[in-house]
Amino acid sequence: MKKHNFYAGPCILSPYTIKNTIAAIEDFAGTGLSLLEISHRSKPFVAVMDETRALIKELMNIPEGYEVLFLGGGASMQFCMVPYNMLKKKAAYTDTGTWAKNAIKEARFFGEVEVVGSSADKNYNYIPKGYSIPADCEYFHYTSNNTIYGTEVLDTPEVNVPLICDMSSDFMSHPVDVSKYELIYAGAQKNLGPAGVTIVIVKKDAVGKSGRPIPTMLNYQTHIDKESMFNTPPVLPIYSCLMTLRWYKELGGLKEIEKRNIAKAKLLYDEIDRNELFMGTAEMEDRSRMNVCFVMTPPYKEFEDEFIKYCDTKGIMGLKGHRSVGGFRASLYNALPIESVQVLVDAMREFETMKRK
Ligand SMILES: *Cc1c(COP(=O)(O)O)cnc(C)c1O
Repeated sequence: MKKHNFYAGPCILSPYTIKNTIAAIEDFAGTGLSLLEISHRSKPFVAVMDETRALIKELMNIPEGYEVLFLGGGASMQFCMVPYNMLKKKAAYTDTGTWAKNAIKEARFFGEVEVVGSSADKNYNYIPKGYSIPADCEYFHYTSNNTIYGTEVLDTPEVNVPLICDMSSDFMSHPVDVSKYELIYAGAQKNLGPAGVTIVIVKKDAVGKSGRPIPTMLNYQTHIDKESMFNTPPVLPIYSCLMTLRWYKELGGLKEIEKRNIAKAKLLYDEIDRNELFMGTAEMEDRSRMNVCFVMTPPYKEFEDEFIKYCDTKGIMGLKGHRSVGGFRASLYNALPIESVQVLVDAMREFETMKRK
């Protein structure tokens, strides 16, 4: 049976990415060696790094003065690297869920953190707005998409201090004006490739200002100077990312990807709003296009487990919501085709017919 992968991360990758990664594991670039056993400093792999970097710059329209880095340690490592490199005295953060909270916790090792907005009062079902950022903050950090709660910030916040963003779960899902940011980071495993590499887009003149000594591996300058080759980079995930990026380019770039993501999200949210068995958990205006969180309405609450089992019979995978929200979460990352969303919507309609009281 065809499977429909709604997992939140790691998650669906394009068939193009998987097919070409398998091929390179068998024979990388006609070398007769596997991608897994070739030197990261070999010519064909250096070419992979160069093309991956160039395609990210091209697809995201990254201006001069920025560097694209490929680092290990996941997005979670950036929770500490960002303040280690950027925070002298004080920074502003919004608290929009688990990942934001983790980022705040790490920043507090390095300086004062002012939480300028929080949606903790409503289990993070909205994006805080109308906050103001004290002018003496060295940067403002926010999470653009809250993977667990299904809220998303689509428009770059207009702020008066340097801007830093955790874009892990909506990276390259729509065009972004990179010039408004000092630094953007994203773990690859939600829209780009397998787990193991984190993309960091950093303005070169933003680093080196913290005034504190920074261990070599945690210092952005090291990776800028060595073009992400100070130590062995995650060769396999980077190669898979390149395949995904080639596919994105083939599709027509981020504007086209955004168009598809809007259509997928609309199809599912429209059904959630129409179907009396289901309701969304995030505030309408802050709904995420990437992670659609929903539950069963009170009269039907008892059927949640049964709906998951029903979805199993249709090949729908990974629909269970995060334990802190419950219900369901359908992740509609770039590689998920709209046909899979239609299968889910059909299952919701059939289930409604079976259960409507
Ligand atoms: C998944 C996720 C993370 C954590 O990423 P790791 O690579 O596992 O450290 C951080 N932030 C957001 C928004 C995420 O969705």
